[in-house]
Amino acid sequence: MKSKKTERLMSGNEALARGALEASIGFCASYPGTPSTEITASLHNLADEHDIYVEWSVNEKVALEAAAGASWAGIPSISAMKSLGMNVSSDFLLNLNLSGSGEGGLVIIVCDDPRGHSSSNEQDSRFYAKAAQLPLLEPSTYQEAKDIIPYAVAVSKEFQIPVIVRSTTRLSHSSGLVRIGKIPERNWSPSLPKKSYYNVPNPHQKHRDLLESMKRISDRFSTSKWNKVPTHESFDHLIITSGICHQYSKEAVHLLDVEEVGILNLVTTYPLPRDLIEKVLIKTKNVLFSEEVDPFIEDEVIALMANSEHQPRFFGKRTEIIPAYGEMTTDIMKEALAGLLNLRIVNERREYPEFLVNRPLTFCAGCTHRNFYWAIRKVRNRLAGKLFLAGDIGCYSLGVFYDMAMNSMQAMGSGIGVACGLGQLKRFDLEGKIVSVAGDSTFFHACIPGLVNARHKNADLTFVILDNATTAMTGFQIHPGSKVQENNLHRVQIEDIVKAIQPDYFEKGDAGNIPELVDLLHSTITKKGLKVLLLDSICRLEETKREVPSKDAYITIDHAICRGEKCRICVNEFGCPAINWNNERGKPVILDNLCIHCGACVDICPHGAIKEVIIE
Ligand code: SF4
Ligand code: SF4
Repeated sequence: MKSKKTERLMSGNEALARGALEASIGFCASYPGTPSTEITASLHNLADEHDIYVEWSVNEKVALEAAAGASWAGIPSISAMKSLGMNVSSDFLLNLNLSGSGEGGLVIIVCDDPRGHSSSNEQDSRFYAKAAQLPLLEPSTYQEAKDIIPYAVAVSKEFQIPVIVRSTTRLSHSSGLVRIGKIPERNWSPSLPKKSYYNVPNPHQKHRDLLESMKRISDRFSTSKWNKVPTHESFDHLIITSGICHQYSKEAVHLLDVEEVGILNLVTTYPLPRDLIEKVLIKTKNVLFSEEVDPFIEDEVIALMANSEHQPRFFGKRTEIIPAYGEMTTDIMKEALAGLLNLRIVNERREYPEFLVNRPLTFCAGCTHRNFYWAIRKVRNRLAGKLFLAGDIGCYSLGVFYDMAMNSMQAMGSGIGVACGLGQLKRFDLEGKIVSVAGDSTFFHACIPGLVNARHKNADLTFVILDNATTAMTGFQIHPGSKVQENNLHRVQIEDIVKAIQPDYFEKGDAGNIPELVDLLHSTITKKGLKVLLLDSICRLEETKREVPSKDAYITIDHAICRGEKCRICVNEFGCPAINWNNERGKPVILDNLCIHCGACVDICPHGAIKEVIIE
């Protein structure tokens, strides 16, 4: 029996990070994004102890470029990102695949977010492996998540191309026991790249070479220990699965007590292990696919078998036996499998106690982003509704829940880009004011080109930067403008960049002062030309890490003045979670354990019922 000392409880992301240490990686560059952040955060915490370089890059493209540079110099490197981050890095990725990743070895970890729990879309990033013709690995357990990284680095080193490892939310963010291995002595030393890395003048020849490598990798994958093949001699029904869906598939088979159903778990999912699949499929009549999100393996297998004499029947997302969107669950697998086997199942009705109030997502108590949305709605009212707010990605995206205060929200940096277009339409008699809003980390990530474009083209718009000086949404990672920097990092001031772009009007303001904020927004937005407002904002979570709220004052509501049900503005329109509704009294109350005494609600109560009390 293995010693318990070698087993640790780890999340999938921590296991991936541990795997990176056991692969002797020396360089990690990433941009944070749920559900991938903890991979790099874990390595960041261990960077000094293991003498590795870890950086939070300005965006995913720069991160991948930095990691490729290190790999070219012979250092095993990693870049981790969320699904949408893969889109940002893809311009470089679809060149790097042909240029090669050099001798160090380069692994890209992408964490998809089925159902979009923490994302603005739902996407299947495995298609990047196909588009770039790069190997793709999908661990299905925490142990595999740890063990797959040294393997991925080894494949990358051997073939000198990046290897993509894909996880999804439930593997990344749940935990299990992982048998850890030794962290080896450093086995690399950097040197300037020995060859040149570009694809011109004959990218097609590089493409040909890459396809040759992928054929060899497919052969390698066909005999790989990673793919788990059913042990039965033959089986009428086979499930082909990958990633966390392997667990759901096993559970469904167990719950239905149909152990005769075979399961082929693919960890090496692109290129398909062709020989292995053909050998297994010859033994079966019916194939059910279980994967998140799109029918990626399903389509590949069906295409592979198109010319085969043996034609099993295929079931999955294409036959709509399994939804082609959202997360996979054991229940979905159970129903699909039962349908295939003509089994009747009784779905146990699950009752959950309703102990939580159903309410939309909201900002933290005292968050200054709430003040901004309160203020912009006031300004919109003053402008008879003729204001379009193009939003962006960050905590402040929650503006979509504030009476639709935010009118659009797509990708990092797209708010200012959309505003660039709308800001040109006065010539066609478009009426109304165009405003774009972004946070500080997003500003550095993707807003600067849009802002330069707005300046260059004389767009008529207002760009508001909510500067809380941290990457708040993903856990306070440092970015170039963060107030708190570490070691020898050099702070880059947003103000300096904006001034260098020379907007027609630039002003700074305080998002903590609501009356002044409303007036500042109104006076700025109604000016002509390119206006930029830099608002000093505060992340209360980060602030309370550093200082406990003052006990010299508290906030209270004077129920003698409060209009109660006739008003409800503080709870319905402002919505600080530290203000609760007392049904018995028909009046709001302050939750002292949540309230951080920011005083914003004092300003928004139209009847002066909310007061700050100073303790003498
Ligand atoms: S906004 Fe003021 S008057 Fe209205 S319900 Fe809240 S505390 Fe009462
Ligand atoms: S002072 Fe008002 S707005 Fe600020 S945290 Fe307390 S209840 Fe919320």
